[in-house]
Amino acid sequence: EASEPEALDESELAVEGALRPGSLDEFVGQHKVRGQLQLLLQAARIQQRPSDHILLSGPPGLGKTTLAMIVAHESERPLRLSSGPAIQHAGDLAALLSSLTPGEVLFIDEVHRMARSAEEMLYLAMEDFRIDIMVGKGAGATSIPLDLAPFTLVGATTRAGLLPNPLRDRFGFTAHLEYYEVAELEQVVERSAAMLGIRLPAAGRAEIARRSRGTPRIANRLLRRVRDYSVVHGGDLDVATVSAALDLYDVDEIGLDRLDRAVLEALVRRFRGGPVGLNTLAVTAGEEPETIESVVEPYLVRIGFMGRTPRGRIAMPEAYAHLGVPHPDGALR
Ligand code: ADP
Repeated sequence: EASEPEALDESELAVEGALRPGSLDEFVGQHKVRGQLQLLLQAARIQQRPSDHILLSGPPGLGKTTLAMIVAHESERPLRLSSGPAIQHAGDLAALLSSLTPGEVLFIDEVHRMARSAEEMLYLAMEDFRIDIMVGKGAGATSIPLDLAPFTLVGATTRAGLLPNPLRDRFGFTAHLEYYEVAELEQVVERSAAMLGIRLPAAGRAEIARRSRGTPRIANRLLRRVRDYSVVHGGDLDVATVSAALDLYDVDEIGLDRLDRAVLEALVRRFRGGPVGLNTLAVTAGEEPETIESVVEPYLVRIGFMGRTPRGRIAMPEAYAHLGVPHPDGALR
């Protein structure tokens, strides 16, 4: 019986998989994108053809992989999962594409990190369902055309701007996922708590949602940490308990984590509010520039703590207030 505690596979990845919504109806928020996808899939179904290629962009944890799975599920087609970093040669992509069955949905996560040679092969594959395979070397090299089964590519990227235009142009539908509202994250937490058998009053749900950085994956992760806390300490999951658990994991009262705060501290204290370049900021915060740019910055910009100018990143008054540092232009807000 799967509900026996010792029989539960509680590894983080397994839980994440189990909590994924299986249909567009169960998918919380992103109303516009959901409506657009619904139409796209319905038209393809009526015409009995694979749907157009789909590009999903947005910060990690907002539901790109989940939507790819839903696309496959709703169009009743098999799904193949791959990622840009796994495609380092054109040959890797040729092997993958030529093994697809008709109508299969191919998900390529981090599609902006594919090898350049593979990218060029993908243009032709997306457009004509055909690739050219190079055989031989030097003057004797020839290319052999190979027809592919029609497929639907679902590409995901943290930043659509990183994709070369010819690739971006070949996606018939492009959607940008936005950070979720607190009310939407409350729904995510409510659904997950029910699935995991966690009794969590509304106030506790709201507290987790408020501290989840607009991100369903984080909401689910914090829910599990709160659950751990209650397993150890017992008691109801009221706001005080939820807060105590989240404080323990360095998630502050507005949901910023240690890296968010390291970036803010560097910007406000070390660089006196900027402007400062991305690389300098990244070195000071001790993190890769790509992570700062695709994970940390979008959220800090979205909540009005950071601004991006042609001369670099700047701290906004709200950031000073949050850190309790007097703003150079005057009193604390
Ligand atoms: P991404 O591919 O954008 O990094 P995922 O699709 O892997 O994000 O989503 C991360 C987790 O968040 C999933 O396990 C899923 O359960 C949850 N999740 C994401 N979006 C939603 C949503 N709209 N509604 C409910 N749960 C979601």
